Amino acid sequence: MRYLSTRGEAAPRGFEDVLLAGLAEDGGLFLPAAWPTLSPAEWRALRGLPYAELAARLIHPFVGEAMSLATLRGMTEAAYSGFGHPAVAPLVQLDHRSFALELFHGPTLAFKDMAMQLLGRLFDHVLAKRGERVTIVGATSGDTGSAAIEACRDRAAIDIVILHPEGRTSEVQRRQMTTVLAPNVANLAIQGSFDDCQDLVKAMFNDAPFRREMQLSAVNSINWARIAAQIPYYAAAALALGAPDRPVAFSVPTGNFGNVLAAWAVRQMGLPVERLIIGSNRNDILHRFLAANDMSMRPVEPSLSPSMDIQVSSNFERLLFELLGRDGVATRTTMERFRAEGRMSVPDAAWRKATGLFHGFTLDDAGTLAEIRRLWEGAGYLADPHTAIGTAAARALAPADHAIPVVVAATAHPAKFPDAVEQATGRRPPLPPRLADLFEREERFSVLPNDLAQVEGFVRAHARRNA
Ligand SMILES: *Cc1c(COP(=O)(O)O)cnc(C)c1O
Repeated sequence: MRYLSTRGEAAPRGFEDVLLAGLAEDGGLFLPAAWPTLSPAEWRALRGLPYAELAARLIHPFVGEAMSLATLRGMTEAAYSGFGHPAVAPLVQLDHRSFALELFHGPTLAFKDMAMQLLGRLFDHVLAKRGERVTIVGATSGDTGSAAIEACRDRAAIDIVILHPEGRTSEVQRRQMTTVLAPNVANLAIQGSFDDCQDLVKAMFNDAPFRREMQLSAVNSINWARIAAQIPYYAAAALALGAPDRPVAFSVPTGNFGNVLAAWAVRQMGLPVERLIIGSNRNDILHRFLAANDMSMRPVEPSLSPSMDIQVSSNFERLLFELLGRDGVATRTTMERFRAEGRMSVPDAAWRKATGLFHGFTLDDAGTLAEIRRLWEGAGYLADPHTAIGTAAARALAPADHAIPVVVAATAHPAKFPDAVEQATGRRPPLPPRLADLFEREERFSVLPNDLAQVEGFVRAHARRNA
């Protein structure tokens, strides 16, 4: 399998390079040179497999010659063995035709574990093979940091340092990071805001000698391997509901467009996905694009679904490249104009192609609370605010008059956002048993001022401890 950059200038790369590099050197995002496709008979043969086996078989074409199916299977089995449900990503029926695909049974109770648990192992495997190691640094306002820490803990070739703004994450979020006492994990509370943390990380990456010395790396949401690792759960849901002999629709609460892109990839691979519904909170740039071919940046507004509080959906560039007929020059020009002017549109034919498949939906906080209450009262189902936007979107935009099942990506456990759930339903969702002692566990983190030299000194002291 070879990968192309969406901006058309980087040389084609293999899976290992794409995994370790993340972003292409021309600033673009990697996509497979050709989509692997399965025939209906091949899809049918995958029905009923255990999740780790299905994942290995569907991800292997993207990995290509980089590792054997058996090696990859060993990694998917290890990645998903710690999940809190034997189905890994169970389907729960909500009404006569809609289902929640629960992606939150991993160690940090949000869907990012589905990809990150495998990504950490893929990184470790490829680095060990090459005799290399990396230091992962990242900034978090809460959720992505814990998923990255859980993915990298105890990996031999990786050290990880995560910066969070001191006192500005929820206690659950902080403890999910700071109670991981693995020797290759370090947490740093910065006396400043989330933006200060992000600026510190950027400054470390821009400090070329430091970046080289520490072999800095990131596991951000544009990494192709994360998308690939999100494909199997959409396939599993579709197969369980009768695909490839029956079409299915997906509704996905969306921020960076990564999760819904994986649902779209399943369609590229040959499953009958009838429509893709994109749920947004007040930060509705994608909804506005689909409504009027106007992708325009606005300031981020905080909401009850903070993991979707974004201004620019970075993974959208991959869809744009396909909409523009895989024209790297056109994609680069469009993205550069977007960065410079804060808005873009696409040629009419491309926009029509997008709106033929993707349907946008937006919901404010009051609507989100009402939807959480409706699900609780109607189906006895406790949904987190992100998931509720997905279910509301499905109700509004999936055709009610014919028998296509609609699968809603349930992206976070309700106990991850207990305040909103309690406000809506009067019930405070408890943490699952395996996390019930989170508040008694020992924490470890250091506190530093917003000062680059001190932060770099900390990273230096904590990296390469196993070297
Ligand atoms: C990250 C996240 C999202 C958004 O996913 P994208 O891939 O960025 O679209 C939605 N819900 C939750 C709970 C998340 O953590």
